[in-house]
Amino acid sequence: MALIYVLGSLNMDLVCHSSHLPQSGETVLGSQFEIQPGGKGANQAVAVARLAGASHLVGRVGQDSFGDRLIASARAARVNCAGISQDHRSPTGVAAIVVDRQGQNQIVVVPGANGQVGESELQVLDQHLHPGDFLLLQLEIPQPVVMAAAALAQQRGVRVILDPAPVQAPLTDGLYCHVYLITPNQIEASQLVGWPVQDQTTALRAAQTLRQQGVDIALVTLGAAGVVVASQEGCFHQPALTVAAVDTVAAGDAFNGGLAVALAEGRPLGEAVGFATAVAAYTVTQPGAQAAMPERSQLEGWLAGQRLPASQNLAPA
Ligand code: ADP
Repeated sequence: MALIYVLGSLNMDLVCHSSHLPQSGETVLGSQFEIQPGGKGANQAVAVARLAGASHLVGRVGQDSFGDRLIASARAARVNCAGISQDHRSPTGVAAIVVDRQGQNQIVVVPGANGQVGESELQVLDQHLHPGDFLLLQLEIPQPVVMAAAALAQQRGVRVILDPAPVQAPLTDGLYCHVYLITPNQIEASQLVGWPVQDQTTALRAAQTLRQQGVDIALVTLGAAGVVVASQEGCFHQPALTVAAVDTVAAGDAFNGGLAVALAEGRPLGEAVGFATAVAAYTVTQPGAQAAMPERSQLEGWLAGQRLPASQNLAPA
C-alpha cells in the first residue's frame, strides 16, 4: 500500500473550561482542565494510523516534556515518528484554549518548534518520498516550507492533499499547481476565493474556481451539510451522516485522514469521499481531537448501524 506522509504541526492543547470567557483584565474560575495532544499535523497522522494507513509524521517539537509526550502519544497510535525531531532552542508548540458553557472558545496558539520546521524536514521528505505515496499538508508550519514540500512531492509523483487551515489568504503563488486535492471548509474557501461561501451553490463555484487556479480536485466541506467535490470527472455533493454531534473539533482532520487512507488503498474518489464522511461523522460523536479518531474496526462496527446517504451529481455552476 502507498505510504502516507504528514508534514505538519504537533501542539499540546491546554484546555480550560469555565462558565464564561474572560474579558480583558478579568480572571475567571475554571471548572476543569485538560492537557491533550493536538496540532493539525499530528491529528491527521493519528487519524491515518488508527484507520490502518501507513502513517509517517514529519515535524518538530521542543526538547521538553510536552515534546516527549506528543511523540509518545503519536507512537502509541502506530504513527511512524522517525521524522520528528526535538529542537533544543524552541519549546513545543502549545494551544491555550478556553471553552465556556455554550461551547464558545478563545484560543491562543504559540507555534514554538512548529515555526522552525524547514530544511531538515524537507530533507527527510527528499530521502523518503516515493512515487505513488501521499503527502498531507496544512498551514500550521511556515508557508514557504509547505510550498517547497508540495513542489518536491509533485516532482516525485507523490499526490499532495492540502488542508488550507488555518487559512492565510492569499496562499503562496504557484502552490495550487503542486496540489492534487484541496479541502477547505466553508470559511477557508470564502477567504481563498474572496467571496462568501454559504451553501452548496457557492461551495460548488468556489471548488471550480480553485480547480481553475491549478488544483486537480477541490472539496469544500460544509460541516453537517456535507461536502461539495469538483474534479475532472464532474461535480457531486456528498451529504454528511446524521449523528448526534458532541464535539466537532477535529472533524476536518478526521476527514482528511480518512480521505488519504481510502485513496492510498486505491479506492475511487467518490468512495474515498464517502469513507472520509463516515470517519468525520464518527469523530464528531466523540469528545476530544485525537481521542475521537476511530480504529478501523471501531469505525466498521459503528458503520454497520448507519446509512451513508447517496451522493448527488451536480451540474457545473
Ligand atoms: P472543519 O472541521 O475543518 O471546520 P467541517 O466542519 O466542514 O470542517 O467538517 C468536515 C466534515 O466533517 C464535513 O464535510 C462532514 O462530512 C463532517 N462533519 C462535520 N460536522 C458534522 C456533523 N455535525 N455531523 C456529521 N458530520 C459532520
